[in-house]
Amino acid sequence: MKDEATLVIIKPDGLKKSLTGNILTRLSETKLRIVGAKVVKVAEELARKHYHHLQEKPFFSELLKYITGEPYGENRVLALVYAGENAIEKVRQIAGTTNPEEADPVSVRGAYGRILTNGLYENVIHASSSSEEAEREIELWFRPDEIV
Ligand code: ADP
Repeated sequence: MKDEATLVIIKPDGLKKSLTGNILTRLSETKLRIVGAKVVKVAEELARKHYHHLQEKPFFSELLKYITGEPYGENRVLALVYAGENAIEKVRQIAGTTNPEEADPVSVRGAYGRILTNGLYENVIHASSSSEEAEREIELWFRPDEIV
């Protein structure tokens, strides 16, 4: 048994499309515990740190605009930490793969994501991809006293 925590972010398109309730319902299927939750206004510095591994990619500047909400007039995201057995894999399963066109149609990204004309994958939700990334991301987005 792997008791672990994972970071979920409902991205600006998810909020704009009023998908919050729907996504939380889907995630509740995992029976994981929510141990952190807050609305965050995403500053560029936070966005750069969160996506530092993609800084050489051609879509990086579009990605920064996306997560900071620039194209949406919506600079908030909902950040959550889910904890429990195999939390990372369970949440990734419900989120779906990165490319929304290739994601399982019943996953969140498959059902609600799209590819923008500029090529960016607008995929509604972030979910940590490994235990190292989850630890790093939770530390970046939450103070220790915000995790219950
Ligand atoms: P994930 O979010 O599935 O962990 P990455 O960390 O590789 O995947 O990418 C971060 C985000 O960058 C993705 O969720 C998506 O919004 C965008 N993205 C990733 N790869 C591409 C790509 N090849 N083309 C366009 N956008 C991408």
